[in-house]
Amino acid sequence: MEYMLSEALPIHSGGLGNVAGDQLKAASDLGVPVVGVGLLYQQGYFRQEIDAHGDQLALYPVNEPNQVPIRPVRNVDGSWLRLPVTLPGIKIWIRTWEVQVGRTKLYLMDTNDPANLAHDRAITSELYGGGSELRLKQELLLGGGGWMLLEALGIKPEVCHLNEGHAAFAVLERAHSYMKENGVPFQHALAVTRAGNVFTTHTAVDAGFDRFSPQLICQYLTLLAERLGITLNELLALGRANPDDHSEPFNMAYLAIRGSGSVNAVSRLHATVSRRLFQPLFPRFPEADVPIRHVTNGIHVPTWDSAGADALWTEMCGKGVWRGDLCDIEEKFRAVDDRRLWTMRNLGRTALVEYARDRFLRHEAGHGASPLQLDEARSVLDPDVLTLGLARRFATYKRPTLLLYDRERFARILTNSQRPVQLILAGKAHPQDLPGQALIREWVDFARRPDVRSHVVFLSDYDMLVAQHMLAGVDVWVNTPKRPWEACGTSGMKVLVNGGLNLSVLDGWWAEAYSPNVGWAIGNGDEFPDDAAADRADAEALYTLLENEVAPEFYDRDDNGIPAAWVARIRESMALLTPAFSANRTVRQYTEEHYLPAAAAYTACAQSLGRAGTLVLAWRQDIARRWKNVRFGQLEVVRHDNQLMFEVEVSLAGIDPSAVRVELYAAARNGDAPVCQQMLRKAFRPGTALAYTYSTTTPATRPATDFTPRIVPHHPKALPLEIDRILWQK
Ligand SMILES: *Cc1c(COP(=O)(O)O)cnc(C)c1O
Repeated sequence: MEYMLSEALPIHSGGLGNVAGDQLKAASDLGVPVVGVGLLYQQGYFRQEIDAHGDQLALYPVNEPNQVPIRPVRNVDGSWLRLPVTLPGIKIWIRTWEVQVGRTKLYLMDTNDPANLAHDRAITSELYGGGSELRLKQELLLGGGGWMLLEALGIKPEVCHLNEGHAAFAVLERAHSYMKENGVPFQHALAVTRAGNVFTTHTAVDAGFDRFSPQLICQYLTLLAERLGITLNELLALGRANPDDHSEPFNMAYLAIRGSGSVNAVSRLHATVSRRLFQPLFPRFPEADVPIRHVTNGIHVPTWDSAGADALWTEMCGKGVWRGDLCDIEEKFRAVDDRRLWTMRNLGRTALVEYARDRFLRHEAGHGASPLQLDEARSVLDPDVLTLGLARRFATYKRPTLLLYDRERFARILTNSQRPVQLILAGKAHPQDLPGQALIREWVDFARRPDVRSHVVFLSDYDMLVAQHMLAGVDVWVNTPKRPWEACGTSGMKVLVNGGLNLSVLDGWWAEAYSPNVGWAIGNGDEFPDDAAADRADAEALYTLLENEVAPEFYDRDDNGIPAAWVARIRESMALLTPAFSANRTVRQYTEEHYLPAAAAYTACAQSLGRAGTLVLAWRQDIARRWKNVRFGQLEVVRHDNQLMFEVEVSLAGIDPSAVRVELYAAARNGDAPVCQQMLRKAFRPGTALAYTYSTTTPATRPATDFTPRIVPHHPKALPLEIDRILWQK
């Protein structure tokens, strides 16, 4: 839906686009053969202006196609490649563009074609604007149109990576292509092609999934269902937890899961959260068994390092270090001496202070400030003072105002005469998010207080350029989400390469990156049932850290004027975390753990006209038909010599025993890991209802009541995601 590649191509809003853009760049660096597909928005995401009252104004400058780094996609005869797509009742033209991203290409589509009606030309005018009908049209273009574009270009990917559910219609279009080519029905085509689709989920809140009303889906997808040869209800079922609930909205993330071979979350903690969010698709699964893994995001280091940091890394580790395998850079970088590091930090902070003053001055001048006020603006901040940075999307759940929980205490921290602190802020709130905008006003009001005025600056229009300056210069990056609602977060990773330190709630990436010698953790990872308690505890922890640890360590100087403990912390954070949270690591992990296995699985499935796909499909259909009659009979447990022997009768209702697995399961409890062991078929009594007996023994280290037999469908060629039912003995 968005790509953040450069300020020069504003088709992004925030974190999601950042991840897509940085991974595309890293794929180019590593030579992973990838193309990106996205939309070209005539106005991109809104630009922010803060007026004299502290209110946010939304502005929409136009992306002039001849002033952004794109060019039309040409057919061999030199004509512009335009694609006809059909939305209900009308054919519209998609225009196509390409962007060169290093060695990779990004293809973009828009509908601003003079042949389209005015309201169709506007489909791609804005990112995250309008209502759900417009969003549905955009997603039909992105997923459906995107796949058609690849076909028109003769690009036949083995793997299709859905970066968030917005693009999930691609799985239907891909299945449709396969149907056409191989003359098979939709279910078969989906069974084969899903093996080659990879889905990354990016939200930690259920409300973050795109959902469309059944009416809208009927209005827009009737034609597609016809093309796929399925009923509208069958299509709707792909986006529902309960296919029989005709009022349930259509969830794009559910479609993505049903159309993919693997699913991953974007941090370890987010995987835990996602297993809970997607549990409705895996009824009766223990949460830990819901097949969602994680690839923690990373950032494209060369995009976010400052010139000073780049020079230092090059000196320590050699040129082009971020394109290599990153193996020995931790060790090489550790050799950097204190003075060199501290000089780099001082230069970075000074450059940021100058940038912030300049930007703030221009802002004030543009709002009719008096000469006296302009003088004041010219001298805000101090290049020698401990500098905190905080920039977020201003949404209430991200708690961007936690530092203001106790204003007086925070003002005292800022204005401490021995150990002063200053803060540079930025962030936008969605134009429809009024509570978010109120949070911006709180900060702007606070920054105007005479006592803190020279210590706090809010920079308007947070974007890539502002971010680059902030992340290169701050000493400490502050992040205060409410755990566990930050899926990953990437801005904190961007300070690593520049020697900034993180002070953050143990959420998203920081929950796996934090250790006491690389930064600071707000709280200890506890989650609170009520918001007020969480805010109180986290604010207290945050202030205490600033007062007792962060500021004292920064100002504790040795004979050379260097804060030795601080510099040691920077060295550790840079050496240890920069490579681990780089997009280089992320893209390698995607390639090894997802792309290559998906390519292999798809190829295997598609072989000999999808014979494997046919078998898997037949297995699935057989299970679906007979599952409701599968049942357990008697369970017998015998204790013998510190062993527990379990024996259970089973009726498989005509399912071949090779098509299921009977397992003995015990959930994790009191520090004991979960147990899952296969039970073996022991007896077969043809002609009887409970024809099979399965048994197994296990060490009697836990009470027998902890264990429950269960039946799980099994097929050697099935994807983990295709196994979505479990029958428990009790
Ligand atoms: C990195 C970045 C983001 C995303 O940061 P999070 O920490 O994930 O919220 C958003 N906007 C800009 C401009 C960025 O550079």
